[in-house]
Amino acid sequence: MATVASVIVALDFDGVLCDSARETAFSAWRAGRELWPEWTTTEPPPEYVARFLQVRPWLETGHQAVTMMRMVADGLADAEFADHLEEHCREYQAQLGCGREDMVTCFGRARDEWIRRDLAGWLGSHDFYPGVTAAVRRARELLDVYVLTTKQERFARALLESQGVYLPEDRLYGLERGRSKEDILEELGRGEGCSEVHFVEDRAETLRRVLAVPALSAVRLYYAAWGYGTPADLVWAQAEPRVRVWGLAEFLELDAP
Ligand SMILES: [Mg+2]
Repeated sequence: MATVASVIVALDFDGVLCDSARETAFSAWRAGRELWPEWTTTEPPPEYVARFLQVRPWLETGHQAVTMMRMVADGLADAEFADHLEEHCREYQAQLGCGREDMVTCFGRARDEWIRRDLAGWLGSHDFYPGVTAAVRRARELLDVYVLTTKQERFARALLESQGVYLPEDRLYGLERGRSKEDILEELGRGEGCSEVHFVEDRAETLRRVLAVPALSAVRLYYAAWGYGTPADLVWAQAEPRVRVWGLAEFLELDAP
């Protein structure tokens, strides 16, 4: 029996489907209140939120947001976020006597607590980019849609379901899988009957990592220009022959094989 060739579309979540930057700032502050008792207010000062939105492009994984909010409070310059974020994460963890996993747990707990207390408020602190969830729902009739995110799965799932996007268990890969997007893309490409893999991402560094893997040379790459990328990221994406730059109007208009 012939298998129908499947076209896979793997989507990043934050910065492609959902603008969660404000929520991330608030959750980071709430998590930080457990670590730094001098943070006494339940909400971050508005100028910290504004600064956090500026440095959001350099966030890769959720728990780093807690350190980033601390760096915002300490008034650090852009270059510290751009070039030394992981060093700062390790430095604060050493000061606090905790590890990366503790930061993940602390950040997740702050979010869980917010969701438990005020689910509607938590969902409402996110904005889905115009038209994207409708496009995903339509695309699912023809394509195999996956979401690859560095968020914990339960948060991404709750948000997607609030928009009527219900993905089976094996279509959503979150932080807890502990796998790189490159690794997941390779596995998806090896799947039976898979004819094409398309990957949509707003983080230039992640696209550069995919470009560096020879086994992923057939994956079609798209840079989501509406996400958290910097102007320099956009210039890079426009000049990179394997990357197609999408504005929101082009979202899910896949390249022909
Ligand atoms: Mg992203």
